Amino acid sequence: MKYIDEYRDPNRVRALLAALQRATTRPWVLMEICGGQTHAFLSHGLDELLPGGIELVHGPGCPVCVTPLEQIDKALRIASRPDVLFTSYGDMLRVPGSTTDLFTVRARGGDVRVLYSPLEAVLLAQAHPDKQVVFFAIGFETTAPANAMAVLQARERAVPNFSMLVSHVCVPPAIRAILDSPENRVDAFLAAGHVCAVMGYHEYVPIARDYRVPIVVTGFEPTDLLLGILAAVRQLEAGEARAENAYERAVTLEGNRSAQSAMSSVFRTVDRKWRGIGTIPMSGLGLRPEFADFDAELRFEVGDLTTQESSLCIAGAILQGIKKPIQCAAFATQCTPQNPLGAPMVSSEGACAAYYRYHRQAVPSG
Ligand code: SF4
Repeated sequence: MKYIDEYRDPNRVRALLAALQRATTRPWVLMEICGGQTHAFLSHGLDELLPGGIELVHGPGCPVCVTPLEQIDKALRIASRPDVLFTSYGDMLRVPGSTTDLFTVRARGGDVRVLYSPLEAVLLAQAHPDKQVVFFAIGFETTAPANAMAVLQARERAVPNFSMLVSHVCVPPAIRAILDSPENRVDAFLAAGHVCAVMGYHEYVPIARDYRVPIVVTGFEPTDLLLGILAAVRQLEAGEARAENAYERAVTLEGNRSAQSAMSSVFRTVDRKWRGIGTIPMSGLGLRPEFADFDAELRFEVGDLTTQESSLCIAGAILQGIKKPIQCAAFATQCTPQNPLGAPMVSSEGACAAYYRYHRQAVPSG
């Protein structure tokens, strides 16, 4: 297959692994930011082929995993209303809130639908003027431009019954929060290629400099992942700390200016709570005041919720690279994809789901 096979070429993979072996003289801990990269590492078995000194820990870049419980409970409350047609990406339906999930709301008669684009929600609102159509806008800088475009379209088409429940998060403040933690173990980061395709990687330049930590923009195919690791290890071994681009076919320093412009016209930076981690200052995106008419939190007055997390779930420690899924006592026992206690077991990008699928044999017995 053109455009894929060349990045999965076994000979290139072997050559990169050999180069990595030669470059590595001591142990290093690398964090891949994105849950998509976690799944790619595990599904290709690359984590087991790395030189013994290199440890991968898994970062917070799973949008479903970090969406705070409060926002999910707000979604559940809004979706339960008879006048609401609630729309979302598919993974969000199974994420447990304090007491239930969106699937259950749908099973009880709520009109909850899975969409592939927020623009579909605007069209649904036009087609159902008797309903309030709400889109659950979650995710990182990757999904924010399309969500911004949906709001702009709703305003241009004067669609009064469309609104958004916004829970966007941004990567750079999360990297800073991980590095500021006294428990931090990360020596270098593999930045998410698709986020950087939108945002560029200029935001990582001052972080790499200020914290003396290599940050390497990395793609998702086997050779992309190994190139990212090799670049990070070479920096570490040389005592360097730069933001570096190992995904040049998709990413530039500046990123996609048109997408950034759409984002900044609709969203502003706000403090945001991350599930399991807590509030990270100025780490999220919220609607600008001029788009308040499209803010579902204001429209449905759901600001006063208290929440209850599972006491067993250690997702916060996993999302910060402090623990691995197999160190959770509930992993593959009380918590499975069929009966998830936490979001990382639900999401297609969740680290716990990846370990359950590819690493269940690593679970300690007894
Ligand atoms: S295995 Fe389940 S309970 Fe444990 S951290 Fe992962 S999602 Fe939470």
